[in-house]
Amino acid sequence: MKTVCIVVGHSHADGGCYNPNAEMNEYDFNHVLAGHIAERLHSRNVRPIIMYRGSSYSGMVKDVNATNADFAIELHCNGAKNKNAKGAETLHWHTSKASKALAARLQTPIHGLLNERNRGLKAIKKGDRGWYFLKKTAMPAVILEPFFLSNDESLKLGLTLREQLANVIAGALADHVLNEVTQ
Ligand SMILES: [Zn+2]
Repeated sequence: MKTVCIVVGHSHADGGCYNPNAEMNEYDFNHVLAGHIAERLHSRNVRPIIMYRGSSYSGMVKDVNATNADFAIELHCNGAKNKNAKGAETLHWHTSKASKALAARLQTPIHGLLNERNRGLKAIKKGDRGWYFLKKTAMPAVILEPFFLSNDESLKLGLTLREQLANVIAGALADHVLNEVTQ
């Protein structure tokens, strides 16, 4: 059975970007999203493993590799000082074709659903944000940034569409995992 590891970005103690108006951070948004994605993957006959960070980020990546999952995704939201910044982007390791293919597969329906700016795929190199996870994971891996949590309107949209977001992520993931993997 194909397996996907879903990493909840950040942790309960360090929630990532925080929106004071909504009193919500990335972790708050994404641990719920992870559950929805997992349930929908399982209904498509893909085995989900939800991964929470332990005491260290590098330890988490080690734990992801120990699952032997076929793919891994890490859930984040974007944040910026400019509260009007918006849009979806998906990060992949710059030399990994398999990760780029997965990123492309996910970016299109995520942008299609939220319909803000399409910021596209970001090819990540050593030292860029998210590089450690994207480089050190043994399987194709991407980081999702579907919207800016620092933008009040975008966060409202994300909350309204969170279940649909899980639907499109799980749908695209399952299609990719089940139909396009030859290994
Ligand atoms: Zn984050």
